[in-house]
Amino acid sequence: MGNEFHIRRCYFCGETCEDVLEEHHIVPRSLGIPYATETITVCANCHKKLHKIYRVLFSYIEDKYNIKLRMNKERELEEQYELQSQLQIHSFVEARKRIETVAKIINELIEKNGDRPVPVEMVFKEAEKKGIPRERTEKILNMLLEKASIYQPSPNTIMKVY
Ligand SMILES: [Zn+2]
Ligand SMILES: [Zn+2]
Repeated sequence: MGNEFHIRRCYFCGETCEDVLEEHHIVPRSLGIPYATETITVCANCHKKLHKIYRVLFSYIEDKYNIKLRMNKERELEEQYELQSQLQIHSFVEARKRIETVAKIINELIEKNGDRPVPVEMVFKEAEKKGIPRERTEKILNMLLEKASIYQPSPNTIMKVY
């Protein structure tokens, strides 16, 4: 430095012997914080003691870091669960919509046909037009038949229960 007033000394004990003076990084470089570059001058003896304290201190910080990781993991799981239940609700709503659509189709066909039984095939066709595949319509139809608002006078036709 060339500054005669600047004397390096140990931050803790005041030791000035250059042979034993070292620089200690206040924030350990192992933490990888690029702007935390500040150092203090310490003698080798105090440096050793300081690192003993740091080991305890930073194991505590590491522990907190691990807890944070664990908490993030848990939050992740919670979010996954939340998403899953939203998907379940979504598919439930979609299923309900399909049931309502098929029920509406049946009602309309029954009304149109008057006293004549409605061919099941017509229900399938109309449902297909609305994007509901045959096997889904079949299941919904069976469900509606069980609820007794409609019945099958013959295997391939349906009628309303009065
Ligand atoms: Zn150090
Ligand atoms: Zn010292």
